Amino acid sequence: MDRPIYLDCHATTPADDRVLAAMLPYFTTYFGNASSVGHAYGWEAEAAIAQAREILAAAIGATPEEIIFTSGATEANNLAIKGVAESYFSRGRHIITLQTEHNAVLDPCRYLASLGFEITFLPVQADGLIDLDTLEKALRDDTILVSAMAANNEIGVLQPLAEIGALCRDRNVLFHTDAAQAIGKIPLDVEAMKIDLMSLTAHKVYGSKGIGALYVRRRNPRVQIAPQFHGGGQERGLRAGTLSTPLIVGLGKAVEIALKEMSAESARIQGLRDRMWQTLQSVEGIHLNGHSTQRLPGNLNVSVEGVDGQALLLALQPVIAVSSGSACTSAKIAPSHVLQALGLPDVLAYASLRFGIGRFNTEEECDRAAHCVIDVVQSLRDR
Ligand SMILES: *Cc1c(COP(=O)(O)O)cnc(C)c1O
Repeated sequence: MDRPIYLDCHATTPADDRVLAAMLPYFTTYFGNASSVGHAYGWEAEAAIAQAREILAAAIGATPEEIIFTSGATEANNLAIKGVAESYFSRGRHIITLQTEHNAVLDPCRYLASLGFEITFLPVQADGLIDLDTLEKALRDDTILVSAMAANNEIGVLQPLAEIGALCRDRNVLFHTDAAQAIGKIPLDVEAMKIDLMSLTAHKVYGSKGIGALYVRRRNPRVQIAPQFHGGGQERGLRAGTLSTPLIVGLGKAVEIALKEMSAESARIQGLRDRMWQTLQSVEGIHLNGHSTQRLPGNLNVSVEGVDGQALLLALQPVIAVSSGSACTSAKIAPSHVLQALGLPDVLAYASLRFGIGRFNTEEECDRAAHCVIDVVQSLRDR
């Protein structure tokens, strides 16, 4: 039996063959521990990690010393948010984030609230974008951190990072961004955007799973974070644990490829997305969720009136691997908190589909998927 067409690239992506090829020698031949400073096995691993660190730093306009490897964006978000809270609480205990953030940002914030921090969960506009005036009004003298994502994992909306960064820098507030969906898809520059901390992950950009990084600014200003893992002192004491050379090589290679191919790939994928949306608009009562242009090239999030969300997903399953809301919350049947934050009524939030089109999707696949959605909606309505 054919497997369904994979259109869930916001959940994860397959590793690029070039990424896998780069990683393989580091599982076997070059298996050394980068902390073994006394012999060649350690030096080989250290050199490969240094190269990946340089690629990552260059990709976001940082220096290699500002990159800390983590197990992914969840850990990077935890390290950034809890690490800043622990280091700056004597200056203030107020943190601002968005209602549309990933749970890997919301949950650390809720945890900090339980410890006595005050969290503002900022609403967004109906198109998913932050209102900069609302943000400005929410900033207080005791605000230590603003955490606002670069690209949303459900609706693909791209927040105005440079504007948020400028506002934060002006008020002497640190700015963290979760760029898990953005790295390799849109240009990122920590200087131009005045970003102080940035979370990254490899598996959304055709890299290795279980690896990511946190960028932590070292100058103007020097950002302090309290480590959340203690142990062997790796990553300058900020994240203990033996570094996974193969996974880190995979992260570096994935980002290198994505950057090199970004403009051509974005244009192609956006073309597929726009074509799919064009086709889907023949469905009566279909709505686009999130800003129509200020979004990731491969993201299409729609709601369909008058159909049951669960029945829709169930009927699509054999043909299309797609998700409703975010994969992390789809195990429990609750409307997506992101769509709710846009003000969508629950029935529309339930009957939503998130398409994530990626590097390996073809025009034929997208056409077939769109026509399948049209047929399924029709048959559900005919019942
Ligand atoms: C996938 C994702 C995460 C979690 O990243 P992991 O590397 O899987 O821990 C966090 N934030 C956003 C926006 C994501 O899309």
